Amino acid sequence: MIYQRSSALFQEAQNYIPGGVNSPVRAFKSVGGVPVFMKKALGAYLYDEDGRNYIDYINSWGPMILGHTHPMVLEAVTHQLKKGFSFGTPTELEMEIAKFISENVPNVDKIRMVNSGTEACMSAIRLARGFTGRDKIVKFEGCYHGHSDSFLIKAGSGAATFGNPNSPGVTNGTAKDTLLARFNDLESVRNLFEQNQDEIAAVIIEPIAGNMGCIVPEFGFMEELRKLCTQKGALLIFDEVMTGFRLGFGGAQKSLNIEADLIAYGKIIGGGFPVGAFAGRSEIMDHLAPLGPVYQAGTLSGNPIAMRAGLTTLSILHNEPDLYIRIDETTKILHEEISSILSQKGIAHTVNRFGSMISFFFGENKVSNFDDAQKADHLLFNQFFHHLLNEGVYLPPSGYETWFISDSIGNEEIEKTLEAVEKFEVKFT
Ligand SMILES: *Cc1c(COP(=O)(O)O)cnc(C)c1O
Repeated sequence: MIYQRSSALFQEAQNYIPGGVNSPVRAFKSVGGVPVFMKKALGAYLYDEDGRNYIDYINSWGPMILGHTHPMVLEAVTHQLKKGFSFGTPTELEMEIAKFISENVPNVDKIRMVNSGTEACMSAIRLARGFTGRDKIVKFEGCYHGHSDSFLIKAGSGAATFGNPNSPGVTNGTAKDTLLARFNDLESVRNLFEQNQDEIAAVIIEPIAGNMGCIVPEFGFMEELRKLCTQKGALLIFDEVMTGFRLGFGGAQKSLNIEADLIAYGKIIGGGFPVGAFAGRSEIMDHLAPLGPVYQAGTLSGNPIAMRAGLTTLSILHNEPDLYIRIDETTKILHEEISSILSQKGIAHTVNRFGSMISFFFGENKVSNFDDAQKADHLLFNQFFHHLLNEGVYLPPSGYETWFISDSIGNEEIEKTLEAVEKFEVKFT
């Protein structure tokens, strides 16, 4: 039994932690089997409790874009730690990272740091409501914006994996203010605006969706969505928790050439530490407390260790423009080579990719919204996942997730991955 210690730990963890995990997708519930407990990570690799190692295609669900334990980030954080862990006061470091981001990212005059992507999105819609004086928001089926109440309605990967699109505990009152549209379907958004005249505060979207697998906006969709929001006086919120600092430094705003009114960040912005942020033009951001009436706060927000890790990671990304070219190229090679191996084996599949975001769906059909993603062959994905896991390749444990490529994945890792894919055989059950 190659996962002996993981199994034992999982068994015991379930006595003390609901489901044995602190975030549901880690539990392997959809793919089955025992989640692998990791104890160490370095570069492209994760090391488990049983002494095996894995090429990591999750990278902590995105933040570790440089690969694990990058020496410069490690050094900066170690140095920072010796100065104290948390002050609960303003620091120069918070100003530095805010200034750096605002100078290098479109439409960010001001930015407020929080502790997770969930908080970032939750606060962004509160601000949008406070700013517009309207109550309703539009979200897209299959998009995930964290686990705050307003968003737990057809919320993509985690929720979709577990087959309960709408969580108990979200009140009808909250749910009625969240309107659902279909990704890549502008008409569905138009209809909502018509049925809810002057009531919609904001439309929030993952500009390149990553939580129903990777789904790319079709030509013209985002441009029209931008126009529609402007016409109707609603804010367009880009949830760039996944895309931010992954699709180049300017995120999806720059890749798609669309200007958002508010932008939510997370994942990479903290370099592996718990950080989220939301940002936008001063006229909107200045509605936040203490300047304005919209309240938002956080005891550990802007924590110096987290800010140092974030600022160092962002600086590396900014100073090394080739890095993005490199990881996009790695992703393209994986796309083409894996696809070609699967085709040779006669396994029908679709690959969706944008920059270094990629996902494989099994089946004949193209995938351009949540319904399509649900129709893919998730049982086959689960076989594929377990096969690769046994071969030492660690994919996200759900067909609704995007793979996250890091800059540490080089030729050697690509080759090992392709060899593992070569050995894949479909088992009929
Ligand atoms: C991960 C994610 C979130 C939630 O971030 P957490 O830090 O997990 O709370 C929100 N939006 C998107 C697009 C994400 O990918």
